[in-house]
Amino acid sequence: MWGRETILLKLGTVRWRGKCSRHPGYNPVTDGLAAIRGNCPRCNLLLEIYTHHQKALRLMREFQPVEPKPRAQAAHVGGQRSLFGEA
Ligand SMILES: [Zn+2]
Repeated sequence: MWGRETILLKLGTVRWRGKCSRHPGYNPVTDGLAAIRGNCPRCNLLLEIYTHHQKALRLMREFQPVEPKPRAQAAHVGGQRSLFGEA
């Protein structure tokens, strides 16, 4: 059914911001679990979202390590080609 098409998982870039209305100063990145006051469910959710995001990034890097950006190399190669082309 899938034929010869390449099957790949696509994930879009998500820009997400969240803040607890009762504890706007809580930052799960720097404060962690110990700083959650009164076991606040919103702060707990923020921490959980942050933890899952970090885990997702780690898994993606484990699956496919980040390669250096090819932009600079491509521009250099392109420049070389034009030099040889003119010679
Ligand atoms: Zn809170």
